[in-house]
Amino acid sequence: MKTELFGLFLHEITQRLADFKVPSYRARQITEWMYRQGETDFERMTNLPKELRLLLAEQCCITELSVIAEQHSKDSKTSKYLLRLADGNAIEAVLMRQSYGNSICVSSQVGCAMGCSFCASTLGGVIRNLTAGEILSQVFHFSRLLKESGGVNSIVMMGSGEPLANYNEVLRFIRLCHEEYCLNMSYRNITVSTSGLVPAIGQLAQEGLPINLSISLHAPDNEIRSQLMPINRKYPIEQVISTAGNYAQTTGRRITYEYTLIKGVNDRPQHARQLAAKIRGQLANVNLIPVNPVPEKGLLRPEAATIKEFENELKKLRITTTVRREMGSDIQAACGQLRHKTSQ
Ligand code: SAH
Repeated sequence: MKTELFGLFLHEITQRLADFKVPSYRARQITEWMYRQGETDFERMTNLPKELRLLLAEQCCITELSVIAEQHSKDSKTSKYLLRLADGNAIEAVLMRQSYGNSICVSSQVGCAMGCSFCASTLGGVIRNLTAGEILSQVFHFSRLLKESGGVNSIVMMGSGEPLANYNEVLRFIRLCHEEYCLNMSYRNITVSTSGLVPAIGQLAQEGLPINLSISLHAPDNEIRSQLMPINRKYPIEQVISTAGNYAQTTGRRITYEYTLIKGVNDRPQHARQLAAKIRGQLANVNLIPVNPVPEKGLLRPEAATIKEFENELKKLRITTTVRREMGSDIQAACGQLRHKTSQ
């Protein structure tokens, strides 16, 4: 079987080449082509000797994702892609052209095991973890698209899957993004979003990486949260919030609590007050997300006035609050919606 080079660190490629008695500076040239130029064809790596190109083509590969489907929002700021992996599975990735740059949202698993009641990614369960290379390939899909328009500026891991349930590959991916020979991206431009896997959040805090952490909270108490997110039965809200608080203290990075507003479920002013009381004193802000209705789940979006009232209640209690700007709801850009629609 051929060695997949995409997703390997420089020292690993060096090691692989040493097996073939190829000097280490060639590994650097390969990373230049693969990670800086986005080249996937060894034949076009013209500063490598012909014999080495042939050897690489025989022994190694660099896999690219192919596009199965794409959707563009009317204002053309949001583009969503359904991408095919080498084994035929499909994943979603989204581009959001924001005023501050190009932000992309990548998947970390095929499907998701978390079973959140409002989320389409979880409808078919989890199929498998993505490798670091497969996560990175999503970024490269967009780097190629954005070559003439500034490239990828920030990455959020808010596509399908629970990133912290695929901890090792996600960490490898994040470290690769930061490598100077790869994307040379600042950790501060990378966000991991989690449904609240408490031990893994604790572990992440110890990595010493200044990445942003988003916590999908979505409820002010255990009763509502367990109803929306089965994972809450394992890791209750108090544990999630205190572990997130430790993350902020250890890393100095502000936590974002994601709170999806669902009509009649978690959208009352009293819920805002309970939420404020729970996170008070933390280096944190709240991001309110009007739910993208998933018809299969029968969950609806609150009225605009209800959303405003919730926001004001939090602000009155001096919780920094933003309401997620609607991007791409006309193109099924919520988690897992395009994949689900296409597989039906
Ligand atoms: N599993 C991780 C990352 C993926 S979800 C997590 O739970 O954080 C990314 C965000 O989109 C989460 O906050 C998730 O709760 C939210 N989300 C999923 N489906 C949604 C929907 N239908 N409407 C609004 N937000 C949704």
